[in-house]
Amino acid sequence: MMRGAALPVRPVDRTLASALSPTLFGVLGDPVDHSLSPAMQNAAFAAAGLPHVYLRYRVAPQALAAALDEARALGMGGLNLTIPLKEVALCLVDRLTAEAERIGAVNTIVFERRGDRLVGDNTDGRGFLASLRGRVRLRGQTAVILGAGGSARAVGTALAASGCARLVVANRTAARGERLASRLADLGGAPIASVPLASRALRDVLGDAALVVNTTPAGLAGAGLPVEPSATPSHCLFVDLVYGVRPSRFLARATRARRRTLDGGLMLLHQGALAFEAWTGRPAPRAAMARALRAAGLSLTEPRAAASVWARRPPRS
Ligand code: NDP
Repeated sequence: MMRGAALPVRPVDRTLASALSPTLFGVLGDPVDHSLSPAMQNAAFAAAGLPHVYLRYRVAPQALAAALDEARALGMGGLNLTIPLKEVALCLVDRLTAEAERIGAVNTIVFERRGDRLVGDNTDGRGFLASLRGRVRLRGQTAVILGAGGSARAVGTALAASGCARLVVANRTAARGERLASRLADLGGAPIASVPLASRALRDVLGDAALVVNTTPAGLAGAGLPVEPSATPSHCLFVDLVYGVRPSRFLARATRARRRTLDGGLMLLHQGALAFEAWTGRPAPRAAMARALRAAGLSLTEPRAAASVWARRPPRS
């Protein structure tokens, strides 16, 4: 895969695509080599009896416009976008769904009329809420988001409409946390506050929290977060959007404090299933997708007995 060129499809991929007469799908990002979306979506297409192929492409932000042009020309069926393309894509598609507009980022592109119109959607927020189902009751509760980047926007937009009584954004760079809080407040829903990550104010908020979500990549590089799990009520659920074979440092600390934990594997599954449904109009074969993720080493734990999540349906686009 080349960086910075138009959508780089290798000859073997073109051959495969035309030989099967399938539709080509893919994920664009940089880095993207670690993405489990190809394994998950190819398993979904196979289980649904569809002859489609899903590939990964390393594409830098400045090459995204050219990549989308080439994807149109190839008659691709749909795309996922990952870091760092989700926000750049906002002005490169023909139309945004209401949800992509609310979140302010695109993680799924639907090609209408074989590429005549590119529709930017976002399935991260709904995928996140689906991963919580059966694990935590949000209605009337306090939820805390650590981080204020792209994924925090999706998680915050979903939580703001989830019926929780208070949503608090805690970010390392306080000004960015305040900007996200004010953006979420404009959407209506739960009252939103922001506090600096390393602050007494965060410790006070944790004392009430039913849910703490880490949307930062801290921990991947070994950095810790100034959050003390034992400061939360014993029923508090700790979620880390990062997923992997081993628990993140953030979740390992929560487990040591005897708090329940969930990693980002189920969110990956559900956001991918929602993308599959947007592309194909068919129910996603979630069991087959989950098997592919488990085969890649993710644990995808089922919920134990817990109250259900109450979530308002996202606005229709
Ligand atoms: P962004 O780069 O947009 O945002 C990163 C955020 O993390 C910023 O708020 C930044 O704070 C904060 N941060 C970064 N490093 C540190 C640190 N060492 N200590 C404290 N805060 C830190 O990233 P995204 O939001 O797009 O992605 C975040 C993570 O979520 C990634 O690891 C990604 O893989 C994962 N993810 C998982 C998904 C899933 O399906 N499971 C879906 C989407 C994302 P500051 O503002 O101060 O720089």
